[in-house]
Amino acid sequence: MSAHMCCEKVRKGGDRWRSYYRPCKRPGSVERDGKWYCGQHDPVAREERFQKSVAETKARWAEEAKANRIRAAAPQLLEALQGMFDLVGDRAPEWDDSRIDAAVAAIAAATGETK
Ligand SMILES: [Zn+2]
Repeated sequence: MSAHMCCEKVRKGGDRWRSYYRPCKRPGSVERDGKWYCGQHDPVAREERFQKSVAETKARWAEEAKANRIRAAAPQLLEALQGMFDLVGDRAPEWDDSRIDAAVAAIAAATGETK
């Protein structure tokens, strides 16, 4: 038994109109502003867990946004790449700049980068 118990109150029951709380049963492991907290209820550790969760969510959203951009640009990319293959396949001495521009635009749309 620690000299200090965690000061946090945890929900022990209730219904949709009211909640009942009891003191946390864990010993306090860290003191913050004169109050003792267990590892789970330590405000600093809670904030770190929250910020980690926010960072993970933002990273997941960025990945989804990237995937959505590529999906949206897929028809344009395909057409542009086919144009490039036509260009190389013909081995034409005169390069068609409009097809190069289309490939550049498709890649920009897929990557989200604009110049
Ligand atoms: Zn606690």
